[in-house]
Amino acid sequence: MVILSLLLLAIGGCQSPAAVTYDQMPSLSPVALGAGERLQVVATTSIVADVVRNVGGERIDLTTLMPLGTDPHAFQPTPQDAAAVADAHVVFANGAGLEAFLADLLESAGAGATVVPVSYGVELRRFEGGAAVEQAVGGGAAHEGEGEGGFDPHTWFDPNNVMVWTHNVERALSALDPSHAGVYEANAEAYRAKLHELDAWIREQLAGVPERNRRLVTDHASFSYFAHQYGFEQVGAIFPGYSTLAQPAARDLAALEDAIQAFDVKAVFVGNTVNPALAEQVAQDTGTRVVFLYTGSLSEPGGPAGDYLAFMRYDVGVIVGALRGS
Ligand SMILES: [Zn+2]
Repeated sequence: MVILSLLLLAIGGCQSPAAVTYDQMPSLSPVALGAGERLQVVATTSIVADVVRNVGGERIDLTTLMPLGTDPHAFQPTPQDAAAVADAHVVFANGAGLEAFLADLLESAGAGATVVPVSYGVELRRFEGGAAVEQAVGGGAAHEGEGEGGFDPHTWFDPNNVMVWTHNVERALSALDPSHAGVYEANAEAYRAKLHELDAWIREQLAGVPERNRRLVTDHASFSYFAHQYGFEQVGAIFPGYSTLAQPAARDLAALEDAIQAFDVKAVFVGNTVNPALAEQVAQDTGTRVVFLYTGSLSEPGGPAGDYLAFMRYDVGVIVGALRGS
């Protein structure tokens, strides 16, 4: 089954040479580790790093490429990052087109860097909010996504997807370091139990949001997985597409404002790594308000979103607080 998927993936890669190869699952062989030596591991975002840390535990030395608070779409790696990647036994990336910098970084790191996309195997989704805006205002506002193949790369907004991540991380670490496979398996299992708990808690919390308020407007199209899993609709986004890099045209903002009013949307959710100026303008024009979330990065350790579990609890709390009302 696995072999068949890999084969299909390889064929797919041949058909579309533009597809970025780091979205394929590499085959990994055991590395020779000396006594007391640990796997050298790199993760791209703080969210990926937190999940990898939970699975790898004491058995890995982990380097996170993006400093806290970095917008993953706009990240520019340094020469030190290339060196860290070149020295790593494995690089864990979100994949699904999130890390636009990764192809160049791998090139400058040279041969030997192996990338495991943790989102491998997640059923990728598209943003459907453009259609909602179109329906509200009569056409012209829908956008193609910026992500790889037009998919939303923000898979972590559904803990069920992060359970898939843990399987990928566990498999990769066990392949590289088979003598500690039992440790990785136990760690991954324990963390998945927490993810199950988180999923149940989210459902419980969101039960307090009335059906008519289950409409999201965000800074960019990043809530496809959350909306699909928990019964929300993405009405629209300030920045067109799945990244924060493309600027909206004036007519797009006008269409979004019409949709916000047509759907009586309660809040515009903005990530802490994004300039909120446009969102504030839209909120002011439509009489709604800007509410801040954590989206692409964790907070400082011990802050409100110091790890992935806290990140999701914080965001869900904010969403419930903003949408619970009348
Ligand atoms: Zn994003």
